[in-house]
Amino acid sequence: MKLSILGSSSSSNCYVLHNDKEALIIEAGVTIQNVKQALDFKISKVVGCFVTHEHSDHSKYVEQYLKASIDVMSSKGTIDNIVIKGNRKPLAIDKYKTLQYGGFKVYAFDTQHDCQEPIGFLINHEEIGTLLFATDTYYLKHTFSNLTNIMIECNYSNSILDENVKNGTVNYMRRKRVKQSHMSLQTLKQTLQANDLSKVNNIILLHLSKENGDENLFKDEIEKLTGCKVTIAKKGIEIIINKTPF
Ligand SMILES: [Zn+2]
Ligand SMILES: [Zn+2]
Repeated sequence: MKLSILGSSSSSNCYVLHNDKEALIIEAGVTIQNVKQALDFKISKVVGCFVTHEHSDHSKYVEQYLKASIDVMSSKGTIDNIVIKGNRKPLAIDKYKTLQYGGFKVYAFDTQHDCQEPIGFLINHEEIGTLLFATDTYYLKHTFSNLTNIMIECNYSNSILDENVKNGTVNYMRRKRVKQSHMSLQTLKQTLQANDLSKVNNIILLHLSKENGDENLFKDEIEKLTGCKVTIAKKGIEIIINKTPF
């Protein structure tokens, strides 16, 4: 299974999992044209698009996806906060229930962010095993079993953020907001340690802050901690993810 990263930052987020037969989209923060290009214009193979929350870097193009006949799913709270003018509306999904879309089983759970009803996903497919997807959450109250791949936010480091407040790059209010809405390197480490990583192949770090992050440091530290292959999510990259390492 291929993972195409079409955006991963506070300006736009979109991830596409796809093989020859089917595709699943996570987040609608890039145009439908970008999605079409990533799929060589075979968008009829899309089984659905899942959105974590209403912030525009994740939901800006929901209406375009709906117009292209793609089903868009999220929590009820998120959908209530996305303005859709057309007749086709996103579908509210139940959390803590496994739902099937093509060969993908999707299970949504609560995350912790400054919006109405943010969610994360466990996505299971016979080719990839169980993938954890969690972004824009300052911590995760759940732990998960049988994970084979992890896509998770690593937005900032406490020390870089504090340094930026000291030198005036980031104001105090913004520091407060970041801490109450995004995941730090330090919290990510605790989160990973709370889960069984024995079957995990890939850890993909999402939504890094330009000012308050350091991709080399984050990659190094998470590699050292976990022994897993760590990739920094960046617009335009493609990763092969499978159930087993090879
Ligand atoms: Zn975001
Ligand atoms: Zn957000």
